[in-house]
Amino acid sequence: MPEKNIFQKIIDREVPATIVHEDDQCLAFRDIVPQAPVHILVIPKQPIVRIDQAAAGQESLLGHLLMTASKVAQSEGIAESGYRLVINNGPDAGEAVPHLHVHLLGGRPMQWPPG
Ligand code: 5GP
Repeated sequence: MPEKNIFQKIIDREVPATIVHEDDQCLAFRDIVPQAPVHILVIPKQPIVRIDQAAAGQESLLGHLLMTASKVAQSEGIAESGYRLVINNGPDAGEAVPHLHVHLLGGRPMQWPPG
């Protein structure tokens, strides 16, 4: 059996995380190396490796991740000031953990384009 990645271990409660939201489809927790005052990761409980490996039939789940990020932004108090949602897919994007995750970043002004 392949080694679980760190996010699967967080889902399975084998590694601690500061969880801010959980439901039957997803988990949201604070990033361990925050890049903004609010930096939360929203992940599916299903083991989707990255967005380009999402399958037909998972559209509803993908939409749920975005809607959850939006709700967490509201509960974190950054909905009005603004926030950024990021999905890193593959090496050039800097993807480090092979379990789909939506970064929710906010609480400070951000630059565009990203570096
Ligand atoms: P990626 O570069 O794959 O898009 O983002 C992975 C994110 O996971 C990084 O922002 C990194 O700080 C975060 N991360 C890695 N390991 C852990 C961990 O053990 N706990 C938490 N909460 N976040 C982690």
